[in-house]
Amino acid sequence: MGECAMFTKILIANRGEIACRVIKTARSMGVATVAVYSDADRHARHVEMADQAVHIGGSAPADSYLRGVVIIQAALDTGAQAIHPGYGFLSENPDFVDAVVAAGLVFIGPTAAAIRAMGLKDAAKKLMETARVPVVPGYHGENQDPGHLLKQAADIGYPVLIKAVAGGGGKGMRLVENAQGFDAALISARSEARSAFGNDAVLIEKYITTPRHIEVQIFGDGKDVVHLYERDCSLQRRHQKVIEEAPAPGMTDAMRTAMGNAAVQAAKAINYSGAGTVEFIVDASNGLHPDRFWFMEMNTRLQVEHPVTEAVTGVDLVAWQLRIAAGEALPKQQHELTLNGHAFEARLYAEDVPKGFLPATGTLRHLQFPEQARADTGMRSGDVISPYYDPMIAKIITHGPTREIALLRLSKALQATQLAGTVTNLTFLDRLARHPDFVAGNVDTGLIARDLNNLTREQPAPQSARALAAIHAGGLGPVGNWQQGITLWSPLKQTVWLADADGPFDAILQMQSPDTVLVETDGGSTPMIRRNGQWIDAENQTAIPAQLFPDTISIFGPQSWHFNIIDPLAVDTGATIGGDVILAPMPGLIKALSASVGQKVNAGDPLIVLEAMKMEHSLTAPRAGTIAKVLVQENQQVDAGAALILLVENDA
Ligand code: ADP
Ligand code: ADP
Ligand code: MG
Repeated sequence: MGECAMFTKILIANRGEIACRVIKTARSMGVATVAVYSDADRHARHVEMADQAVHIGGSAPADSYLRGVVIIQAALDTGAQAIHPGYGFLSENPDFVDAVVAAGLVFIGPTAAAIRAMGLKDAAKKLMETARVPVVPGYHGENQDPGHLLKQAADIGYPVLIKAVAGGGGKGMRLVENAQGFDAALISARSEARSAFGNDAVLIEKYITTPRHIEVQIFGDGKDVVHLYERDCSLQRRHQKVIEEAPAPGMTDAMRTAMGNAAVQAAKAINYSGAGTVEFIVDASNGLHPDRFWFMEMNTRLQVEHPVTEAVTGVDLVAWQLRIAAGEALPKQQHELTLNGHAFEARLYAEDVPKGFLPATGTLRHLQFPEQARADTGMRSGDVISPYYDPMIAKIITHGPTREIALLRLSKALQATQLAGTVTNLTFLDRLARHPDFVAGNVDTGLIARDLNNLTREQPAPQSARALAAIHAGGLGPVGNWQQGITLWSPLKQTVWLADADGPFDAILQMQSPDTVLVETDGGSTPMIRRNGQWIDAENQTAIPAQLFPDTISIFGPQSWHFNIIDPLAVDTGATIGGDVILAPMPGLIKALSASVGQKVNAGDPLIVLEAMKMEHSLTAPRAGTIAKVLVQENQQVDAGAALILLVENDA
């Protein structure tokens, strides 16, 4: 261990929240940082935070964050000694690790050999079997003949899970209930695997009923391995994690010891160094038992949900990564690692929950996190969620002495998060945080799907929120303006037009005194009073923060409500044009445009391909007619509701 000097400068081969997260720790250790960025990320938060930044190419990951050669050159050019890969992108690419090492740099992570050993799920399972780690019963052999696989499925016993051996992020996975469904599921799993991973080999596993996902954080230094306890990631939607926690609810000493030992054994089998996670599937149909957990896969990198482990162990996992990569031994031994309290993490995404969690884009007009929670984010107010990358906005992490307190803090933190400019899963996360089964610790991977309707149901904005929005739309809102705003200028009675998720509505504002106004909508009248410059609902007396933008208003109550301000003149103009306007149903990128001015079209003719988060949506003509105006161009980014094409009658 002669030479183990800490790096003086590292490059972070990633973007978003994880790049910011790594920079924060590096800075606290006195290590200078180099960010890399794509065209779309020119002004991103991670670029601003780093000491230096290098442009590495176009916005698509293949043109920038996946270009290993360019990234290594950037490290050499800036004098960085090591590369931190974050997660995703190149983090589990052994060829990249080889190239980093060949360039004389240090890869902050495991060896290429360790990544290769765990890279394919079938090979990893075989390896774990020889290391005497329990693996999920199933078939992980070479023979990929459909008839052979069908027979294996029958031997395993339905239900079974077909998994892409190269899989990740829940892709290439199909649950099969019986032999009749097997062939179709195999075909679709294979085709998804082929396009996502370029490898269509699959394995078959027994599907564990009432499954819980419990994983163990491990750390190795190439000689020794310790574990930093478990995380429960059972709250999932389509095999993707939504809320994670540590420790696992209901964990027993016997189970924890067995899982910790199995994870350490798994890592020792490949002489692991750095941070890693061993994922297990647990049969929770009858409590937790030390003989009812099985190895699923090992993720040879820092995991998205690592902050919950940091919260309960007090260890900065990124600091450990840097120290081990610099040649130090494990900073702590197993007996020095203890658990303190409970922690949760919720993943905040730009996505349209009522539309089946459709990924969204947009500009964050406003973004503010409560001070009481840890918020790991790569975004600021004004930043754009582009269609090129994962639409995660932030991770919100809370800690408390007990599970109950930490979970209450999570719900509070979600409610106090203010965000405007795009749809998000914020309300969904808060409902999940207050779900009775989750609160009781009765988790399994089917919880969200079982109660999806309740968790995603849209609730109309309450009268008090509508009234507050109307007051702002009527120009009575902002503190500071109010004196001249109201007493001198405001009419005693005025009408404003707004729209929310339920559609357009109007509100009549009647000033009854400088500090009282009655707001009438079709839902009734709401008396509002002003106290200390803030308008509050006279009945329940709670002040709710609001933000006014040129054409929208956001009300940040226990839930957020967003209103569009309708300009009645603009609506009239639209009506007199008398055509059909084709609007963008969601924010996205105009991928293809097959309409030109003067062109005659029939109902159903495809006019535009809109790409929103790697999914393509074809927008078609609603009826026969002539294209009068094309208001967008190819490769243009559009917001939801943007007018794209104007269609008029054929003889117009
Ligand atoms: P986890 O999500 O807990 O890290 P998984 O085993 O589910 O673990 O693996 C999914 C991985 O794929 C995550 O690490 C995530 O960062 C990565 N990922 C997902 N989407 C993207 C993306 N658009 N670009 C890069 N990496 C991604
Ligand atoms: P990925 O690489 O996509 O993360 P995993 O093998 O880790 O794939 O599985 C992802 C999720 O799928 C798990 O967290 C779990 O919810 C579910 N799952 C995987 N294997 C099984 C199984 N054998 N039985 C039940 N659920 C499973
Ligand atoms: Mg996994």
